[in-house]
Amino acid sequence: MIPFNKPLFWEKELDYMHRAITTQSMSGDGVYIKACTRWLIEQTKTVSALLTTSGTHALEMAALLCNIEPGDEVIMASYTFTSTANAFVLRGAKIVFVDIRPDTMNIDENLIEAAITPKTKVIVPVHYAGISCEMDKIMEIARKYHLLVIEDAAQGVKSRYRNKALGSIGDFGCYSFHQSKNYSMGEGGALIINNPAFSERAEIIREKGTNRKLFLTGEVDKYSWVDLGSSYLPSEINAAYLFAQLEEADKIKKKRVALWQKYYRLLKPLADQQYLQLPFIPDECEQNGHLFYLKVKDQAERDHLIQHLKKNNIFTVFHYVPLHSSQAGIRFGRFNGEDRFTTNESKRLLRLPLFYDLEEAEVIYIVDQIDRFFVKDPKE
Ligand SMILES: *Cc1c(COP(=O)(O)O)cnc(C)c1O
Repeated sequence: MIPFNKPLFWEKELDYMHRAITTQSMSGDGVYIKACTRWLIEQTKTVSALLTTSGTHALEMAALLCNIEPGDEVIMASYTFTSTANAFVLRGAKIVFVDIRPDTMNIDENLIEAAITPKTKVIVPVHYAGISCEMDKIMEIARKYHLLVIEDAAQGVKSRYRNKALGSIGDFGCYSFHQSKNYSMGEGGALIINNPAFSERAEIIREKGTNRKLFLTGEVDKYSWVDLGSSYLPSEINAAYLFAQLEEADKIKKKRVALWQKYYRLLKPLADQQYLQLPFIPDECEQNGHLFYLKVKDQAERDHLIQHLKKNNIFTVFHYVPLHSSQAGIRFGRFNGEDRFTTNESKRLLRLPLFYDLEEAEVIYIVDQIDRFFVKDPKE
């Protein structure tokens, strides 16, 4: 059986976790959280980075830092995970969905401007599959209308746009270290802060609304409640697990990208014969091998292909059901303009197994089964 995902695990994680438990404090910003934070700052070349309890919480912190208030509008694609929207809905915002580009499944940068109203406060580009949105254009619009930009780079750790790390281009970047992502701590994430004006308040919000951080660094002699906040600090045990993977991040990325390219090369003939469509990576983008998807004719064909692969012990999955068509999406958002691609493209999309321990022989087997479905052995 080939699973869709298999979380990466080496013995080193256990070793670091053991050390976190036996020799260090398990709470607060300990040795491993600090090590992960240094890695994040070094990777993103930004002023500060805060490890959080999830990617969802990094988005929630960003929404708090942007002072989202009831009635504010936030622009994003509908083809995304619920947390991208929820973080802002929790603060009372209205979500304004904009159509995607069919080639990258990312927000169509040319449709953003038409969605801006006097209530718009934030644009949230989601870098689907770790492939960047058109950030130059998005930042230009944000500057023109004085909007903040929060990159949902949950899938984009170690991806780049014009040689800049994803998450380091907008005012904030949100990473996820969930088990399903390239680098994991079980549940976890990080908030990357590119605008230094927000650094101190971010520490306060993460520390339950207290200035505990300033107390720990000796800048105040007593810590107290100074602002809104919650508990967004992960445990040292989780950070220890993550650090073991971050130390091998280049190796992990290289292997994942190699598997991605193998799929692409082997599936190219089927794409050339118009049986399916392959992902597109714009020239400005360097990807991280987060996920490999293909698109077929329609939903019915996709569901048949999923069944065919399942019969041959290969587990594949589709992805987001567009948020604007969901119960909560109807309640908390509106779609601006025409839904030309979001719904139709999402119904055609299928994700193939891609994880560190996947073997090249398995990729060959999976592609062969797809080939059988379309060419060698079609049913109808
Ligand atoms: C995974 C993911 C999230 C949420 O991250 P968690 O760490 O699971 O909370 C948010 N947005 C996108 C696009 C994601 O892929």
